[in-house]
Amino acid sequence: MNPLVYFIVYLTILVLSYKVKLAWSLAASGFISVVIFIFEIKHISYETIVFILFFNAIPFIAEKFKTNFSAYKFRMRTELESTRASYDNLLTADKKQLESNLEIERKMQQVSSLYEISKDMSSCLSFEDIFNIFSSALKRSFRFRLARLVLLKSPNEIIDSVYEIELGRSYAKVAPDNFDRELVSIILEEQKEILLTRQENPQFLRRLSVVKNFDTLIAIPLISEERIAGVLYIENISRMYFENFLILAGQFAIQLQKVILYKKVQDMAITDSLTEVSTRRYFLERFREEIRRSMRRKVSLSFLMIDLDYFKEKNDKFGHLVGDVILKEIAAILKSNLREIDIIGRYGGEEFGVVLSGIAREGAFQVAERLRSSIEHSIFKAYDEKVSSTISIGISVFPEDGVEENALIESADKALYKAKEKGRNRVC
Ligand code: GH3
Ligand code: MG
Ligand code: MG
Repeated sequence: MNPLVYFIVYLTILVLSYKVKLAWSLAASGFISVVIFIFEIKHISYETIVFILFFNAIPFIAEKFKTNFSAYKFRMRTELESTRASYDNLLTADKKQLESNLEIERKMQQVSSLYEISKDMSSCLSFEDIFNIFSSALKRSFRFRLARLVLLKSPNEIIDSVYEIELGRSYAKVAPDNFDRELVSIILEEQKEILLTRQENPQFLRRLSVVKNFDTLIAIPLISEERIAGVLYIENISRMYFENFLILAGQFAIQLQKVILYKKVQDMAITDSLTEVSTRRYFLERFREEIRRSMRRKVSLSFLMIDLDYFKEKNDKFGHLVGDVILKEIAAILKSNLREIDIIGRYGGEEFGVVLSGIAREGAFQVAERLRSSIEHSIFKAYDEKVSSTISIGISVFPEDGVEENALIESADKALYKAKEKGRNRVC
């Protein structure tokens, strides 16, 4: 047989062997080989047989190669996939590590910024300064709708003042009824912070009258000397900020406590406890300051020395307790008849000093006369007693009567002595 024909037949078998199963391919090649062998046995040469066998083997070799190659491909794919999976795992782990690093970094930044805020607050001694730092830190660090601070006055927890913090605005003092009284009552009852969410705390929500328009609300008591000195609440702050907000608010509460105590100590040193006007020491300090200012501005200043008339007799007749009430009420009347910028102090037992800035002699006489007349026309009620009283006033004026406080006091003292001599209840 022409080897070319055989070759073409064989190519067909080869192609088929890729398309159909190996057994079929071998069977077909075997069948053709047998047919060729039967018809051409006599003429076939040894080389032809080798040639035929070789060609017969090709589909088998090809199929084997194909199977091996498929297995290799499968193994490679499996390995590739597992490598890819490990790589993906590695990427995920790396991402997680990165996230946790970022989280740690964020936490560290928060801690250090909290530390800075506390440090800033601790260096301040006034409420305004501390609240300013706190409200700026609040706006910088958290997203929220509104925060309010309600300061309470002891002993009956009456409202002292209310402050409001809103994003994009500097903090503001608002009208004292601009908050939820019921929320403050809840805090006074609970004595600890409360976290409210619209879904989880309907029982509290029903009690509130003003603050209702929130999804989350945190309210915390600010405690000073074992009593609640204020309530701080914040609306619509995200849950993720709860913890940090409580830390910051805790720091603010400590600083507020410090400021309240500091103010108390200051007030004790500058305010007379019975009459609630300045103490002698503080009064003289401010008197000196006022003289210096008048000197700089080249303006007048008047000093009044006020002494209660026959007060010893009142004490003897009605007792010291009644005397104390009269003293206290006279101080209040004097104060109410003066301007905010005037200075009044308890100079001695039943003596008061008054500094009238920018007022010359004529004006000082008018003020003194007004004070004298108000006392003369007052009736003091104390322990079932109704008592009247009068005062005498001596005036000195800067710079005519002296340019420093001792000279002015001496001059006013002399004028007071004159008023007493002339019969009391008068101004000299
Ligand atoms: P006058 O000034 O008109 O000459 O007579 P006076 O009786 O007021 O005399 P003087 O100023 O010397 O008396 C001061 C009295 O004021 C003596 C003291 O009993 C009384 N006094 C001083 N401090 C207090 C106080 O804190 N409470 C009471 N209840 N009395 C006081
Ligand atoms: Mg006196
Ligand atoms: Mg007197």
